[in-house]
Amino acid sequence: MARISQLLDAGPTLSFEFSAPRDEPGAERLRTTLETLARHRPGFMSVTYGAGGATRGPTRDWVRTIRDHVGVEAMPHLTCVAHTRDEVAAIIRDYQSDGIANILALRGDPPLPPSSLPPGGGELPPASAGAGSGEGGSPAFDTAAELARFIRKRTDWDIAVAAHPEGHPMAASVEADLAHQSKKLAQANFAITQFFYRAEYYEQFVSQLDARGVQTPVIAGIMPPTNVAGIERMSALNGTEFPAEIRDRLEQASSQQERREIGVEVAVALGRELLELGAPGLHIYTMNFARAASEVATALGWPPSPLPEGEG
Ligand code: FAD
Repeated sequence: MARISQLLDAGPTLSFEFSAPRDEPGAERLRTTLETLARHRPGFMSVTYGAGGATRGPTRDWVRTIRDHVGVEAMPHLTCVAHTRDEVAAIIRDYQSDGIANILALRGDPPLPPSSLPPGGGELPPASAGAGSGEGGSPAFDTAAELARFIRKRTDWDIAVAAHPEGHPMAASVEADLAHQSKKLAQANFAITQFFYRAEYYEQFVSQLDARGVQTPVIAGIMPPTNVAGIERMSALNGTEFPAEIRDRLEQASSQQERREIGVEVAVALGRELLELGAPGLHIYTMNFARAASEVATALGWPPSPLPEGEG
């Protein structure tokens, strides 16, 4: 059981993010992906949580699988929009009994329709829309900052929060967003950013935090851009720029392999810039696929350990 803040103190970390699959073929693929990416000896792996609460069980199961069977520190995400305080308190107790040491506290978004989820990956659709939104318990939370405070009172865990270097799309203004993010990050042990494709967004965000006296480590989230439609959709949702020069290169590629090579090249160049800027860690959004993430990790200085004799 490792505290991620301590890993960050020891030097830049590599981490990977996964989502609970929706079906058995997805689960089979994720098991293989986890084994492959574990060979890069990441500091930790994280597992997303459906904002509707539907991945409550699967998120916990995959966190245990990663920690107990894959042998890597695992951090669950937890969203609060669709949960009462009583429900969140129960989830915290479950994780306390599992012995977790780190959690990513999020507000969450309304769930996406299943048709817009990535093939074989993504989060489970909600069991019922609005499940847990206040009925039969104390009211739900409005923000991640409230959730983080609630967890802090009950645990001694490292609490991470989401950071949005290009601003949050639902922010009232750039200034209000920055003020909120600064306050939220100030009470967290570390943050992980939304994906972005220009290192200057990260540099500017961290210096704005610094100017406000916030020195919380901000791990940079990197999504290798291998799929134009997927990145376009997620960028629109997150309010992040999908630079035209990257999209054009991907659109001109003649095969999936060429698109993957471009995506890896873009992610590696960005990762190098971010490490030079002093990013305390790189968090790769894998979409539950191993290959691009593995190639990016290797090129950035985290090669895989050799397979044991007789394997591979
Ligand atoms: P908050 O910080 O609560 O709020 C988001 C924005 O709202 C703020 O940046 C600010 O602009 C505005 N705001 C909130 N409160 C105030 C205030 N008091 N004053 C002024 N402005 C305010 N979603 C999932 O459903 N499941 C996941 O597992 C998941 N994992 C994620 C992991 C990472 C690393 C990131 C970056 C995002 C993840 N998300 C996930 C998406 C996330 O839930 C959405 O981005 C959501 O819209 C915002 O969540 P938050 O925790 O940043 O919210």
